[in-house]
Amino acid sequence: MYESSSFPTSSPILVFTCFVFGYSHPSRSRPSRHLLFVFVRTHSAVQGTPLSATLSLVMSQCCRKIKDTVQKLASDHKDIHSSVSRVGKAIDRNFDSEICGVVSDAVWDSREKQQQTLQMAILEHLYQQGMLSVAEELCQESTLNVDLDFKQPFLELNRILEALHEQDLGPALEWAVSHRQRLLELNSSLEFKLHRLQFIRLLAGGPEKQLEALSYARHFQPFAHVHQREIQVMMGSLVYLQLGLEKSPYCHLLDNSHWAEICETFTRDACSLLGLSVESPLSVSFASGCVALPVLMNIKAVMEQRQCSGVWSHKDELPIEIELGMKCWYHSVFACPILRQQTSDSNPPIKLICGHVISRDALNKLINGGKLKCPYCPMEQNPADGKRIIF
Ligand SMILES: [Zn+2]
Repeated sequence: MYESSSFPTSSPILVFTCFVFGYSHPSRSRPSRHLLFVFVRTHSAVQGTPLSATLSLVMSQCCRKIKDTVQKLASDHKDIHSSVSRVGKAIDRNFDSEICGVVSDAVWDSREKQQQTLQMAILEHLYQQGMLSVAEELCQESTLNVDLDFKQPFLELNRILEALHEQDLGPALEWAVSHRQRLLELNSSLEFKLHRLQFIRLLAGGPEKQLEALSYARHFQPFAHVHQREIQVMMGSLVYLQLGLEKSPYCHLLDNSHWAEICETFTRDACSLLGLSVESPLSVSFASGCVALPVLMNIKAVMEQRQCSGVWSHKDELPIEIELGMKCWYHSVFACPILRQQTSDSNPPIKLICGHVISRDALNKLINGGKLKCPYCPMEQNPADGKRIIF
């Protein structure tokens, strides 16, 4: 249906004709009713007037068209209606309106603290996603005081990433060179990859860029021992420069995926260097919450049935272990085989000299007369010889 705001509705015949040819008045929200209404008005207007054969034929054609359209509208509406009504039921079935019971107020020191933490998480997410203007707006509206030190790493990261998206390697190279030592400590190959991409750009320029490319190759010198194979490939590609790289066995060098890869490498290495997480903590929390919430709701229901007290017994620990999937595995955890508890900062895992690992609390309980006998092998040892393990 087309919309026409200047369409006159005073003449029934005109309305009728326009409707048949696919027009509808925008103020009518229900097209099928509108159609019947117009038909009735038109019908009464022409009643009693003898029709010529041509007009009669046109009218019968129009009637057929209206009938078909009404039927089509009715069947379309039927399909939509059944889908829409299912959405409502699905929402009712899958959403719990009351989720406060699974959250303990004791997790937060105060309501202000809770609000502030949430605002900071949203703000960090916005900065991390590069939505700088939205973040600034939130700062102003929430009267959050964010100092420049907090923003600076995000602003720098975004500036360099934006340049990379526009295939400008300059800012990224500058950053990588100024952080060379720390990147090497991280075992990062970012700087080499940036130089390689710059070299490939020169190669793509054809034979007239040959000298420039050769001269640029000196940038590979510090990476020769680690990236020997890749450097050989790039030098080999020079042979095909006259012929055109795209028709050579080295055409993969021109692949656009290198740009996506460099953005990924840069984000990962820069985040780890700046002490930021690669993924936004808010997105990770949200995704984890979506998995954990149904489980927590189930526990809450069970505990209510059995009339137990609150779901949360510990301030910063979930009441049960919830499997969030491999994507949410960030570090290994260790559960003490003696106490059957997950180790923590206050009760860390300790490796005994025989190689077996137990928690410190378990170790303290097993000390007998200043000596410790490993619960797994009979080796007797000095408890002070145990070493803390950090996962
Ligand atoms: Zn042992």
